[in-house]
Amino acid sequence: MKKGVPELLALDRAHVWHPYGPMPGRSDPYLVESARGVRLRLFDGREIVDGMSSWWAAIHGYRHPVLDAALAEQAGRMSHVMFGGLTHQPAIDLASTLVELAPDGLEHVFLCDSGSISVEVAIKMALQAQLARGHPARRRLLTWRGGYHGDTFHPMTVCDPDGGMHSLWTGVLPVQVFAQAPPAEFDPGYAAELEALVERHAGEVAAVIVEPVVQGAGGMRFHHPEYLRVLRRATEANGIFLILDEIATGFGRTGEFFAAEHAGISPDIMCVGKALTGGYLTLAAALCTGEVAAAISAGAGGGLAHGPTFMGNPLACAVANASLGLLADGTWRARVRAIENGLRGGLEPLRDIPGVADVRVLGAIGVVQLDHPVEMAAATAAAVAEGVWLRPFRDLIYTMPPYVADDEDVSRIVAGIAAAVAAG
Ligand SMILES: *Cc1c(COP(=O)(O)O)cnc(C)c1O
Repeated sequence: MKKGVPELLALDRAHVWHPYGPMPGRSDPYLVESARGVRLRLFDGREIVDGMSSWWAAIHGYRHPVLDAALAEQAGRMSHVMFGGLTHQPAIDLASTLVELAPDGLEHVFLCDSGSISVEVAIKMALQAQLARGHPARRRLLTWRGGYHGDTFHPMTVCDPDGGMHSLWTGVLPVQVFAQAPPAEFDPGYAAELEALVERHAGEVAAVIVEPVVQGAGGMRFHHPEYLRVLRRATEANGIFLILDEIATGFGRTGEFFAAEHAGISPDIMCVGKALTGGYLTLAAALCTGEVAAAISAGAGGGLAHGPTFMGNPLACAVANASLGLLADGTWRARVRAIENGLRGGLEPLRDIPGVADVRVLGAIGVVQLDHPVEMAAATAAAVAEGVWLRPFRDLIYTMPPYVADDEDVSRIVAGIAAAVAAG
């Protein structure tokens, strides 16, 4: 039965919890009726350009015919079967393709439900492998401030201590080792400190985990890729694993297929998620080297202690295969570059507006940082009035458009950001 907008919003307020908010929410969410291409259609008939790609995921836009067809075709075959003792071609194809595309050395793929779970699995891989290699004392993790790795408990421990509200969890979460947040430019002093920190904690740390080049939800910060080479050398020299969280940066967002390519390094373990299925279904993966897999497999327990109910979901794998198929011809590179140019040209002038602290653009990511917290509701409404969907947080108004956004869409997004800056 079709319900009216007021009734739906009243029920939403009464029963539906939304991300990072109280119950009920501080303001009514916008009700979406459908979506197509880069546009969300609201219930009142307005169409707005999605500047968020549904949180980095919908890189090909909505209702893409190739992805729709892959999903329908797989639904006609089977939607799901358990992965214990059974396997299927969508998962086999996906794992093989990911290994082909991933940085050298990553050979094994553990499929899981969401980004946070892939980080849990990556951490579990590192801890189990260290244990199996005879280093039971190596139980902690090392990262830098300003990061974000998910909302389940162990990923929370490596999120930025302030942004992740670690004070709320004193005595609940293990305390990890933090370096200062990485500077944008290369600073040899910082690099030396980072290296010394890894060395100093080598006896008690199982792995270093970081987002390569772009720290996303922790603050939309960019850093020099040389720091990743420093971490690669330092972890290798000290027998510690390097985990790269490519959940936000993977699949072309930063201008390279994986952000690790900016540094020319390979991690021991890598997480992917978000854009993996082109934004259709929840799916993520933790990839690891043969060495990590061999250690875990030879250790106590005789395997990796993880196995979600919906592991390797065929619908999600089929649509992920179709999404990777769309990326295979490499035309995303030119699109990401065009979006980068459009965002740079459009956003740079905002630097001179009072209240703007910084403007930064990398690949298909554009960020305007204010010198004060954003007035969320006002900024969002101002962008929607310009025909653009944005979701600012803290002091940040930012966009990562679908790659199919054309120059006109990007201009509209820029106008939406300008309106949000003025209002927020
Ligand atoms: C979004 C994100 C996660 C968590 O993924 P979910 O699918 O939301 O659990 C982890 N790491 C990074 C870098 C992310 O951007």
